[in-house]
Amino acid sequence: SETLLKTINDLPFITTDGKRVQMMINYDPRMDSKETRKLKTDGLGLLRTEFLYLGREIPPSEEEQIELYTPAAKKFDMRPVNIRLADLGGDKVHSLKLGDYSEELNPFMGCRGIRFLLKYPELLTSQLRAIVKTSAQVNAQIKIIIPMVSRLEEVLETKGIFEQVLQECSLQGIYPKNKIDLGIMVEVPSIALALDFVLPHIDFVSIGTNDLIQYMVAVDRVNEEVADLYDPYHPGVIRIINDIVQSCQQKHKSVSVCGELASDPAIVPLLIGLGVDTLSTTPRMFLRIKNRLRTISYDTCANFAQAALLMGSSEEIKKLSLTIVDENS
Ligand code: PEP
Ligand code: MG
Repeated sequence: SETLLKTINDLPFITTDGKRVQMMINYDPRMDSKETRKLKTDGLGLLRTEFLYLGREIPPSEEEQIELYTPAAKKFDMRPVNIRLADLGGDKVHSLKLGDYSEELNPFMGCRGIRFLLKYPELLTSQLRAIVKTSAQVNAQIKIIIPMVSRLEEVLETKGIFEQVLQECSLQGIYPKNKIDLGIMVEVPSIALALDFVLPHIDFVSIGTNDLIQYMVAVDRVNEEVADLYDPYHPGVIRIINDIVQSCQQKHKSVSVCGELASDPAIVPLLIGLGVDTLSTTPRMFLRIKNRLRTISYDTCANFAQAALLMGSSEEIKKLSLTIVDENS
């Protein structure tokens, strides 16, 4: 009930057997409300920045970007604030007038996310500068997430440009208050399976299950015709999430889930059991997921995950997930 959820807001983020899980929210200022402001969180897990760029021909200025990032960062004060570089293209259809950019037959496989930013590096440097300038003014631990990474080279190139921006800023006397960590969205299967080569170059990983599932099962995430084939319980999906988490644990890097799966109470035990250390949910689902976390044991989740990894059909895995019931109710 609502009152139960309210009392949960003040309690720690732990399972019944004391496993601490970080819980953050996917947030941007458009979601600001009395309810969202009251939530006690470990931080901002995903700030999508695309909306600043949509429905216009000229990209936002640095000042405009800073006006978005600064109040968001101030809300989360000393905590992590994960700003994702603009993931333009794919389902985030924009009308920016840039060079020879033209319509694509297959935008989900096209010039999207970091590919787009590296093709128009002035967009990338402008966004990185805005983030560094913001970080000089706020106490939050600003982190940068690179979207749609499919190749190691994209990470190295972005990192090089970021270091250049940091250096240029320092020449102007602009220094981040805290070191800015750099991480990637893992949402393309190729990079998930080659993650051990990327991890030495980055600080953390965030799994974008919305895209990862679509690219794993070859089902367009916005196509109603095939919506029933968009299957989070597919054994291949569970295996690849397991692979990602294993790679991260071996290299001692934090791994979060910020896609919709983290806001799904039926799937959260599986994610925890696989070893995901951070969940970033929608503000609306935050307390419900927290309640779910607080009423299951890590032991049960781990057993569930190990069993699911041995199952060949999603029906079987889904059925098993329904047997994970709250231990307090
Ligand atoms: C995802 O792909 O899971 C994700 C969090 O990013 P978006 O939904 O913005 O593509
Ligand atoms: Mg995505």
